[in-house]
Amino acid sequence: MTNLFENYGRLPFSLTKGTGVHLFDDEGKSYLDFTSGIGVMNLGYSFEKGKEAVKAQLDQLAHFSNLYQNPLQEEVAEKLSQNHHYKAFFCNSGTEANEAALKLTRLIKAGQKILAFEDGFHGRTFGAMSATMQEKIQAGFAPLVPDFVASPYNDVAALEQVVKVEKIGAIIFEIVQGEGGVLPITADFVAALKKCQKKGILLIIDEVQTGIGRTGELFSFEHFGLEPDIFTVAKALANGLPVGAMLAKNQYAHYFSAGKHGSTFGGNPLAMASANEVLKAMTPEFLAEVADKGQFFFATLTEKLSAKSTVKNIRALGLMMGIQLADEAKVPEILASLRENGMLALSAGHDVIRLLPPLVMSKEEMQKGAELLESLL
Ligand SMILES: *Cc1c(COP(=O)(O)O)cnc(C)c1O
Repeated sequence: MTNLFENYGRLPFSLTKGTGVHLFDDEGKSYLDFTSGIGVMNLGYSFEKGKEAVKAQLDQLAHFSNLYQNPLQEEVAEKLSQNHHYKAFFCNSGTEANEAALKLTRLIKAGQKILAFEDGFHGRTFGAMSATMQEKIQAGFAPLVPDFVASPYNDVAALEQVVKVEKIGAIIFEIVQGEGGVLPITADFVAALKKCQKKGILLIIDEVQTGIGRTGELFSFEHFGLEPDIFTVAKALANGLPVGAMLAKNQYAHYFSAGKHGSTFGGNPLAMASANEVLKAMTPEFLAEVADKGQFFFATLTEKLSAKSTVKNIRALGLMMGIQLADEAKVPEILASLRENGMLALSAGHDVIRLLPPLVMSKEEMQKGAELLESLL
């Protein structure tokens, strides 16, 4: 008997402790973690600087409100601002960050439509869900927020057509579709999106899963020389504390004048104390190491798995990996066998095993994970 909604397909055990890149369940069994709590614990379970900052802040002041100056929010915003080109609004989750982006867009582009891509994922609140063009996520919730338009991802011709026939004010997208199946954007598609931006269409980049070092850059749009008008982060920003942020170019900030948008907990001091330490850890050296480990892990997985008939495709950007299987029914089976053997991984889309190791995982541990996958696939 549970007193919880059963809206998650929960596994029949709980996790009680984490150290480094290892998790322990309620029976003491240990797991090498390739999930990071779905892209949250990028610095692993022993990020002491973050823990200490949160403990100190808890003793000092857990919460006040957004009715006062907030030097800690200023510090975090400065680190996210790409050299003062963007201003930040803080909230508590990815969907709220996207909600803020969509509301800001409505003010900037009144009366125009917002384009989103099939198999993208932007969250579960009404606005973000209306931008999430997946039948299984939208089913039953109509009427959705109007004036969202869908187009296939990485399809340049379809994109050119839809911006021709619809009055599109903004395009929201991921650089790697995470929930949709670890699908990286193509160079052609980026070029087409840049053309749209040149014509005055806003680019909103959802960095909720790809951001904060996951792909080997602080934000994944940096790989492509993209300059979003708006971008959103959440998941890994505070290494385990709930937080989200929406950033927009300075020129758009005045649309959120006093009273236009807000959040009670947004930019809460505990989350900010942690986020500040997380961002301090994202040095160029650290990010270069992530990129290097990403290449190593991708090469190792490719070498061990690509010839197997059970494996259809292996995709990656930085330390975001997707192994597409030939038979989608195998995904839950493989995840269960991995768990039995002390390794946690995720699924994505309908036929993909998704690996999001903490960025602090060693190459030896990645090698171990790849060997286990080799023996099971
Ligand atoms: C997880 C995710 C979200 C939603 O974040 P929540 O914190 O669960 O609301 C939005 N966009 C992307 C790309 C995500 O991966």
